Amino acid sequence: MQNFRVVVMGTGGVGKSSIISKFMNDKFTEIHKETIEELHRHRMRFDSVSVEIDILDTAGSLQFPAMRKLAIATGDAFLLVFSANNPESFETVKHLRDEIREQKQKGQYSIVVIANKTDLDTEDSHSHAVTESVVCMDWEEKFITTSAKTGDNIDIVFQTLENKIRER
Ligand code: GDP
Ligand code: MG
Repeated sequence: MQNFRVVVMGTGGVGKSSIISKFMNDKFTEIHKETIEELHRHRMRFDSVSVEIDILDTAGSLQFPAMRKLAIATGDAFLLVFSANNPESFETVKHLRDEIREQKQKGQYSIVVIANKTDLDTEDSHSHAVTESVVCMDWEEKFITTSAKTGDNIDIVFQTLENKIRER
């Protein structure tokens, strides 16, 4: 049995828990429930090998550098989530990305950057957050736009993770 740990990070309220819930249970709720820290386990088979994917949903504790360091140390892949209508949340993604790259060895992890809440994206906000995040295109990381509400591209996120696991 192989184990692969995905750490989901980003500013509070950007939709981390919603993305996980949409993927795991195909459920979406408008109610924002403060996450403490939750571990979800998803089992899958590749050819004849079974793989356990642990998805760590992070929250407020990650404001503490030591907690962040620990989460980064244990992760094989990182979903860095921001909200398409909140440019500041993209700043957080940039900082997290820098921190991960400083702390981990190249080739030992992957990063997927996610612009969530595209269903709310207006012309105005679009010009800020998402356009700025086109900077990501210069990054080596994969960039995906999602909506946990409509389910748009949620499968692509987890498909991407599966491909990363296969490449290992
Ligand atoms: P977290 O703090 O990052 O885990 O954020 P949550 O998953 O708890 O979501 C925060 C709020 O945003 C909740 O009210 C969700 O219903 C809402 N939300 C999450 N994803 C989306 C989305 O894609 N579209 C819209 N319209 N709302 C979303
Ligand atoms: Mg949450």
